[in-house]
Amino acid sequence: MTLEELGSVAGEAGLPSYSAQQIADWLYKKKVTSVHDMTNLPAARRTYLDEHFEMGLTPPADSVKSADGTIKYIFRASGSFVEAVYIPSGERNTLCVSSQAGCKMSCLFCMTGRQGFTANLTAGEIINQIQSIPEAETITNIVFMGMGEPFDNTNEVLKALNILTRSYGYAWSPKRITVSTVGAKGLKRFLDESSCNLAVSLHASNTKERFSIMPVEKAFPVYKVIELVKQYDFSHQRRLSFEYIVFKDFNDSPSHATALAALLKGIPCRVNLIRYHAIPDTPLACVDMKKMEAFRDALNMRGIVCTIRLSRGEDISAACGMLSSSHANAVEPRIGR
Ligand code: SF4
Repeated sequence: MTLEELGSVAGEAGLPSYSAQQIADWLYKKKVTSVHDMTNLPAARRTYLDEHFEMGLTPPADSVKSADGTIKYIFRASGSFVEAVYIPSGERNTLCVSSQAGCKMSCLFCMTGRQGFTANLTAGEIINQIQSIPEAETITNIVFMGMGEPFDNTNEVLKALNILTRSYGYAWSPKRITVSTVGAKGLKRFLDESSCNLAVSLHASNTKERFSIMPVEKAFPVYKVIELVKQYDFSHQRRLSFEYIVFKDFNDSPSHATALAALLKGIPCRVNLIRYHAIPDTPLACVDMKKMEAFRDALNMRGIVCTIRLSRGEDISAACGMLSSSHANAVEPRIGR
């Protein structure tokens, strides 16, 4: 709950309005797991809160660890399963969270898109992924790159970002949070109402090719995304990146690199090249590292900062594009034993 919502809770429980901040401190700073631990609230009011509200903390239903240290956590949420991926890397420990169970966007290269849409997660279910894993206190960065399109669930994602970044809440620096989108209606609201970093899943620089792998291109074409991001300042506090999965003989030629550099010319941004993690029954294939490096160098030569993102968690189907509730379904018989 936001501070405003906690104000309503305080009023309903017969507490003074300043108790909203007291409750927020217990929830988001001291991270208590029971209302009865909120010891600066009168005992009778705590009992009322306990009888009428839930803490909303749900531990992961299961987890699986990769040989490279990446851990995939499976949560029950909104009547389905969602996955969050913890990626330790030196001093940087990133948690990749989901914003929806499934996804409507049907990107050709993505297992989540393949499974279809089940439900929007609530802000509580999003934050639960961050607070309920055993490594919660070691997380340094959060990326909204798990299951779902965040701006197809804009209200709850913005609410989660509010609670995560505002001083009444977790007080995370927005610089340590990145939200990734294919481009959707809620993007403008995010740019206006949040100062977290933005990652755009591009994967093709022209409409025809992008549409062939990402149906969203019809409703929210790439030129619209570019037009929109050009209206905001990404040169100082806030970072903008473009994600580009390199597919063999599809978007990997020197002319593709030239077209991409032209599209992004003048925008303060970086491009992250991602190796395609093959999923069954698609015509797409991955390229070798030599080709990835040549593509990166072609962009760098044209003044576009470009890096190749390391793949993590591929052996546990936790890498980019591989998340799916079907993995969770596979572990369901173990839950509750
Ligand atoms: S890539 Fe993202 S937007 Fe596309 S189907 Fe997968 S989860 Fe949805």
